[in-house]
Amino acid sequence: MQIKKPASKDYRNILFSIPKTEIHLHLEGMASVDTIWSLIQKHKLEIPGISNREDIINRFKVKNLDDFIDLFLNVIQNCYREEIDLTLQMNDAREYLKRNNIIYTEVFFAPSKFLINGFSFDVMMDYLDHDAEKIKKEDGIEIKFLIDVSRSFGSENAMNNLNLVLKHRKPSIIGIGLGGAESKGPAKDYKAVFEMARNAGLKVVAHAGEDVGPESIWSAIKDLQVLRIGHGISAIQDKKLMNYLKKSQLPLEICPMSNIFTKKYVSSYKDHPIRKFYDKGMYVTVNTDDPTIFGMELIDEYLNLLNNNIFSLPEIFDLIKKNLYATFLTTPEKDAMWKKMEKVINKYK
Ligand SMILES: [Zn+2]
Repeated sequence: MQIKKPASKDYRNILFSIPKTEIHLHLEGMASVDTIWSLIQKHKLEIPGISNREDIINRFKVKNLDDFIDLFLNVIQNCYREEIDLTLQMNDAREYLKRNNIIYTEVFFAPSKFLINGFSFDVMMDYLDHDAEKIKKEDGIEIKFLIDVSRSFGSENAMNNLNLVLKHRKPSIIGIGLGGAESKGPAKDYKAVFEMARNAGLKVVAHAGEDVGPESIWSAIKDLQVLRIGHGISAIQDKKLMNYLKKSQLPLEICPMSNIFTKKYVSSYKDHPIRKFYDKGMYVTVNTDDPTIFGMELIDEYLNLLNNNIFSLPEIFDLIKKNLYATFLTTPEKDAMWKKMEKVINKYK
């Protein structure tokens, strides 16, 4: 893969200085190698192919989406053996958010594998909620959770996850998402789960068009009535869908490097449809998906878009604003946050 090295230091400093939001980010996707290695040692785990820190770094170099999901479920999530281990994960999240000056984020947390491993949803969420509150107090960074009910384990499991969310609703939980193996779990199978979530006042989003064609995006829109689409890049194959997305201004949570790493539809910035979507007038946002696993953090994403001449700096400012306005904050909250961001952005205009 040919990606120009970032970046003048100036651009990096500019991008750091602007407070930002991020809306497509998986909690364990912020795991540090040190956390994974410390958990392997703490619980004396035997994971095939991993006997030292270097092996973890190498295992993080994923080949495609299935390889990534295998890493996610069978290596990373398997290292967490008791609920309290998630506090290490929250610490990694805090460090990632601070490094990138992200002041508000909506993070996916996928409980399925942990529940299978015997964790209590209530206890897990207590830790996550408590740490989110602590991070808000200590660093002024706000973390909200979208519980990924998951399409990897079937609709019954997803309904079970939703029931747990409704039973143990913590202040930090704002909605649900549908992640996992897109090719194995058509969105329409989750219609009842999403309907129930919407009726309970939860926000709903779904990964679609990351690993499957435009029909998957249509289904997320029609069957699940999602408020945002995770990725959505296969929309490029369907003019009618692009027109619909333009008209509806349904936000796309685009994660350029993640798409390039998993290589389903694109293998370089040149192939990536993000610029075409933007020019079309569709609602585009930039996110990282799994920053520490891909070794590509939010500032790097914006820098790469600049350095590959996909977007100009003023357009990057616009993308930063679009990300904020696609969050589930209230309009007054968004406006207040935009004021803070704009103050910094105006210095560079
Ligand atoms: Zn994702």
